[in-house]
Amino acid sequence: MSILVVGTVAFDAIETPFGKIDKIVGGAATYICLSASFFSKKLNIVSVVGDDFPKKAINMLEKHHVNMKGLQIKKGEKTFFWSGKYHNDMNTRDTLDTQLNVLETFNPVVPVEFQASEFLMLGNLMPSVQKKVLNQMTERPKLIVLDTMNFWMDLFMDDLKEALKEVDVLTINDEEARQLSGEYSLVKAAKIILKMGPKYLIIKKGEHGALLFNNNEVFFAPALPLEEVFDPTGAGDSFAGGFIGYLAKTNDISFDNMKRAVINGSAMASFCVEKFGTQKLTEINKDDVDARINEFVNLVQFDILLK
Ligand code: AMP
Repeated sequence: MSILVVGTVAFDAIETPFGKIDKIVGGAATYICLSASFFSKKLNIVSVVGDDFPKKAINMLEKHHVNMKGLQIKKGEKTFFWSGKYHNDMNTRDTLDTQLNVLETFNPVVPVEFQASEFLMLGNLMPSVQKKVLNQMTERPKLIVLDTMNFWMDLFMDDLKEALKEVDVLTINDEEARQLSGEYSLVKAAKIILKMGPKYLIIKKGEHGALLFNNNEVFFAPALPLEEVFDPTGAGDSFAGGFIGYLAKTNDISFDNMKRAVINGSAMASFCVEKFGTQKLTEINKDDVDARINEFVNLVQFDILLK
């Protein structure tokens, strides 16, 4: 099954307690595609960069089965730039700078050959751009997943709520779920958000795992306890890539299969955080992914005797 991925392709500057890097290739769509490439070889991207973006990075994505026809390269303009600093717990971060650059005037064009993609991943980006992409699909995709963040909620909450009416799955972190719903309790927040449009809600809690909500059901997947977390940037996007990648590979969007997809997403996120930026995702192979999923199975499997 083919997956259309929309989201930022970016330069990041990252500071963690373990080091600092001034300019590295990142972006939501970059992480999503790299992660999803372990499950699907039919990946299509729609995004925008400036002519300062390295050809090497485009080639790297192509090597991971990403069709780059929908990547606009704007002459004389600069690529989206984000800079963040992680706190000592590595679970929280401050955004130091966001320079929209090419994003300010981005008008997404979905190439004709992408318009019938079966799965649609609306990665972190302006909600109005996410909606424009959705509107260009000739057939409603089998599954539409949307990811967003506080930055867009602060600026464009109304546009976001419009886009949410049309999606199947929303992935956000705990703070964003509270901001979107106005509720502190995540269970109450989920009930409110599920009335906004999405049938499924995934709340990511960093090293404390992820919750999947649907109607009155809830599923929890832990994060793998790792000896070293080097850089959490892109963990949420890697999760999303693994999640939608697995669903596309199995072509099954039942709640039970979504539980398995959450475990696959968690496995991909656990790789991402082990090195700076996208590096780890470009070093691993499918055997590594399978072995890691096995670690998750062992982590959460137990027998219990009930009277
Ligand atoms: P994550 O750690 O999964 O939340 O994603 C980190 C990636 O999101 C970085 O590579 C950034 O380039 C990208 N990013 C940061 N801020 C934004 C934003 N406002 N919109 C879209 N992408 C962003």
